[in-house]
Amino acid sequence: MTARLELRGVARRYGETVALHGVDLCVEAGEYCVLLGPSGCGKTTLLNILGGFVDPTAGAVLIGGRDMTRTPPEKRPTTTVFQDYALFPHMSLRDNVAFGLRMRGVGRGPRHARAEAMLDLVGLPGAGARRPAALSGGQRQRVALARALAVEPDVLLLDEPLGALDLNLRRAMQAELKAIQRRVGATFVHVTHDQEEAMAIADRIVVMNAGRIEDEGPPERVYRRPRTRFAAAFLGETTFLEAVARGGAFDTPLGPLALPHPAPEGARVTLSLRPEHVGVGDGLSLGRGEVIETVFQGVHRRVRCAMAAAPGVELLALLPVGADAQVGDVLDLTLDAPHVAVLTED
Ligand code: ADP
Ligand code: MG
Repeated sequence: MTARLELRGVARRYGETVALHGVDLCVEAGEYCVLLGPSGCGKTTLLNILGGFVDPTAGAVLIGGRDMTRTPPEKRPTTTVFQDYALFPHMSLRDNVAFGLRMRGVGRGPRHARAEAMLDLVGLPGAGARRPAALSGGQRQRVALARALAVEPDVLLLDEPLGALDLNLRRAMQAELKAIQRRVGATFVHVTHDQEEAMAIADRIVVMNAGRIEDEGPPERVYRRPRTRFAAAFLGETTFLEAVARGGAFDTPLGPLALPHPAPEGARVTLSLRPEHVGVGDGLSLGRGEVIETVFQGVHRRVRCAMAAAPGVELLALLPVGADAQVGDVLDLTLDAPHVAVLTED
């Protein structure tokens, strides 16, 4: 039905290339886990190690508490939806979806019933007799998902499943994927390089960079309190300020900032300021900034300001759309201090 995943020190090299450095990760049974990171960071390698298509050069893979490091794909309780999820063009959708069941020797009646039920689940009721060529990209993606779910995997592995879809359809399918996952209860591991997609869909986000996990946890925690600069920057816009803890405040290029965050005296940290926590209302003063760029974004106006106190330091702020901020205006910027993230990595 569903299974917990555990990776212990999983590494993979390709010749000189290290695709994964000893990765440790647990995904609870029934969780929707998203692997997020830039191209080449090792997401597909990690997914294929879970599915059994790639052997790790070191480490162990446990699925449902059992060591499956050397277990072939067909003996694992996993199904993979590959990035290129080719359907069989000459088969009906029903036969496409029932394919895995046929391989397992399930009789025609039950497997067709199951295929129709899966087509229902993905929003294609009654489409069993149609052929893939008659479908849009989004509909083909749904059939690939129905095909993967038909065999009732404990764990479903999806590699950039929405990558081929246009933006509106992507957003709609994200909500559906999550709803389907809730209904079937299986553990999902979904690879993407789209941070909005990751935040929209994940119970657990795993931020990867250059073969390592930079941070992992619930989307809100990772967004608000990222563990590393990479995770902070990959998950949305932010401005970094180098700072030193001194006398209960932080010395920064903009002067001392009295943030309500404890830090040992003398500690060197990086402050991460999200644009939505910088503005012109109440808050901790950041000093004056000259507007050098302004972008109307519908729900707010995003401005970039060059700070008078520190040449070279630019802050991003979100202002209400009604705010009249033109390039060249000077604003008294303020900070919603409790929301600043203090990063303590080297
Ligand atoms: P992602 O899915 O995040 O884009 P991959 O897991 O595909 O990243 O790749 C991680 C790294 O491993 C990249 O540097 C890639 O070039 C390398 N790599 C992946 N698969 C192979 C392979 N079969 N042979 C050689 N190098 C590979
Ligand atoms: Mg990939």
